Amino acid sequence: MIYGASEDPIADLVAGRFPDASGRFGPFGGRYVPETLIPALERLQQGVREHLHTAAFQQELGQELSSWVGRPTALTFAGRLSERWGAGIWLKREDLAHTGAHKINNAIGQALLARRLGAKRVVAETGAGQHGVASAAACARLGLPCTVYMGAVDMERQAPNVGRMRLLGATVVSVTSGDATLRAAIDEAMRDWVGDPERTYYLLGSAVGAHPYPYLVRELQSVIGREARAQIRLQAGGPPDLVIACVGGGSNAIGLFHPFVADRAVALVGIEAGGRGAGLGDNAAPLSFGRPGVLHGSYSMLMQDADGQIQETHSVSAGLDYPGVGPEHALLQACGRVQYQAAGDAESLAAVRECCECEGILPAIESAHALAGARRWAQAHPGKRVLIGLSGRGDKDMQTLTRELLAKPPAGAA
Ligand SMILES: *Cc1c(COP(=O)(O)O)cnc(C)c1O
Repeated sequence: MIYGASEDPIADLVAGRFPDASGRFGPFGGRYVPETLIPALERLQQGVREHLHTAAFQQELGQELSSWVGRPTALTFAGRLSERWGAGIWLKREDLAHTGAHKINNAIGQALLARRLGAKRVVAETGAGQHGVASAAACARLGLPCTVYMGAVDMERQAPNVGRMRLLGATVVSVTSGDATLRAAIDEAMRDWVGDPERTYYLLGSAVGAHPYPYLVRELQSVIGREARAQIRLQAGGPPDLVIACVGGGSNAIGLFHPFVADRAVALVGIEAGGRGAGLGDNAAPLSFGRPGVLHGSYSMLMQDADGQIQETHSVSAGLDYPGVGPEHALLQACGRVQYQAAGDAESLAAVRECCECEGILPAIESAHALAGARRWAQAHPGKRVLIGLSGRGDKDMQTLTRELLAKPPAGAA
């Protein structure tokens, strides 16, 4: 059986038996890293075990989340989208969180952990720059020096975020090796960390990488699902029929899904970046179109060719443009608890426009992938309750939105 010894992987996830002692979610996850990284990961795992769930740490984290991040974020009933789509639509508003997306929940949590572990500096990687900005802000808040590795190609594409990181006091290091984008930046951040794991903390930005990162990031992002679960019960009088979120590395989705996994009556759907289509290199949807393999220390689904070479990916949304996905999602797909689908560039851009015009909310293009998936599901399941993770705001996407939407005539949403 593909779940190893597990009879019921959902029960194992809910009871906390996954990740297991070797950091696996069934067959996925683990630690596929060079020997030199093992002591640093062991130290981190020890720190997570000692601090993360203590009352003192949770109180400190709760204080930062409420007074600095702005939690709880609102749950908004989307009345006009509900009318158009024929279902009840609620939006979990991570766009209202400090720095504009859910990434800050993870960044401040890990920065607090770094301080507890006695780290003197933090390193982070960033692709589009959003995780770099969140990390720079969290480190400034706690007085920790922060170095952000960023591909040279990305630095040019995302210049405003480079400026934001620098204003927030971070040192941004340009990475010219490899593909000079996110993959190379992760490699460089890891190299820096291994050089001095006692003084340095590596703040990873999504629910990916070697154990314990996928678990740590999921625990820190689960605040999204816990809040939303209580909020929708109050507002709608019952649980949602569907919970849906976009999936890049998978952190906002796993944070929203996790508190619902045990409720088997609640359907869970993750939406990947379908890009231009199903061809290799045309999308960033490893759960929909990829195969299992190892990337950045973890066994999961990923985009690779017949020789196991990692494939270039494409998405109009920079935050979803990554060839891998967190191992917990791979397990949730394999056991059938979560369905994963792809939404394409055009469909997602149309959803940006629709959300703006109907609700007065400019969503991130990443988040609009979840809107596009929800629209399809709602039209096939009239009258149901749909909870959508709105992972971030679209202000950062204005350059793309100007080119793709404002410079072209409206596509005429059906
Ligand atoms: C980074 C980002 C994502 C994708 O990351 P996940 O780890 O999959 O959540 C999604 N939405 C927004 C707004 C982002 O900034």
